[in-house]
Amino acid sequence: MIKETVAYAKKAEREIIFDAEHFFDGYKANKDYAIKCLKAAEGAGADVLCLCDTNGGTLAFEVQKIVTEVKPQFKTPLGIHAHNDSECAVSVSGMAVFCGCTQVQGTINGYGERCGNANLCSIIPILKLKLGIDCVTDAQLKRLTEISRHVAEIANLPQSAHQPFVGRSAFSHKGGIHVSAVTKHPGTYEHIKPELVGNERRVTISELSGVSNLLVKAEEYGVNLKKESPETKTLIKTLKEMENQGYSFEEGEASFELLVKRALGDFTPFFELEEFNIKTAKEGEKGTQSVAHLKIKVKNKNFDAAGEGDGPVNALDSALRKVLENLYPALKTMKLTDYKVRVLNSEAGTAARVRVIIESADEKDVWNTVGVSTNVIEASWLALVDSIEYKLMSEGKK
Ligand SMILES: [Zn+2]
Repeated sequence: MIKETVAYAKKAEREIIFDAEHFFDGYKANKDYAIKCLKAAEGAGADVLCLCDTNGGTLAFEVQKIVTEVKPQFKTPLGIHAHNDSECAVSVSGMAVFCGCTQVQGTINGYGERCGNANLCSIIPILKLKLGIDCVTDAQLKRLTEISRHVAEIANLPQSAHQPFVGRSAFSHKGGIHVSAVTKHPGTYEHIKPELVGNERRVTISELSGVSNLLVKAEEYGVNLKKESPETKTLIKTLKEMENQGYSFEEGEASFELLVKRALGDFTPFFELEEFNIKTAKEGEKGTQSVAHLKIKVKNKNFDAAGEGDGPVNALDSALRKVLENLYPALKTMKLTDYKVRVLNSEAGTAARVRVIIESADEKDVWNTVGVSTNVIEASWLALVDSIEYKLMSEGKK
């Protein structure tokens, strides 16, 4: 069957990649038969013989042994097709290439059935930067992070922050000692230069014990802080207080940037809240509806607005937008993409302090803001306001 099928397709002048499904398990069970299958495909003119680890159970050392045995028996180029069921698809693919395979089958971000296929976003930089195989140009490699995020967006899946090479946290550092070490000797905590794959170093703000974190972070925002200056000391004090209250700037970086700019008097708020009033009701058979009334001040003028929504936060957002979108049309491109609530001191039951994290996005950018309060609506409001202020501040910069 293999011989007839390959020969038929070859007669139609097509390129034939023969996927030897279950090859590694087949080889372990019956070496001769597995080799005969490949020989049949080669004899009929296949262009590539691809060795498949169809159930994803093969480990890299087994692939090394098997490919080393198989390779000398064929003139036709070999390929590798690995699945990630043992979380080894990348290492299996890299090993196969190391042992002489010249085609790798995989997917962007490792998307695929079950636990996924081999992740090309890791394999490509491993081949290029670690095995010295010129499989893509330097310029193409620099677009890897962008491609990974773009495909994630099309698939409507969040890109994992911890994805090697291309994830947002792949080159992020926290803790004073790490940060000062990595700026002096990047190799201490970075295995490659993030720019090579189009990613970037990030310093995350958690436990701001070290001043060095704050200084490096502020520099990213174009703010030049001096180590001993009174502003820096006040800022550290404020940050510690806020962290004690339950703020986590690691998950709300945009709020942190605003906080630094506010503390330095570098920021004029785009609007101020005078009061809000929210009613949430369930009437009869209808679902729960919320209505929010707002009084805000923009550029010294007072505005009233009302908005409806599926819940109180949605209603606040829609009331706020009724006023602000007229004054700042750029807000129309922004939407809230995620909303998370975490209870901070759960022993206090429903009176506990909560942290709200809001993720927002426009066509270009994604940003996170944070609010903390004993009242979930107030915490949401704080995160919502930061989210909008951040968008307007970014527009201002443009
Ligand atoms: Zn497969």
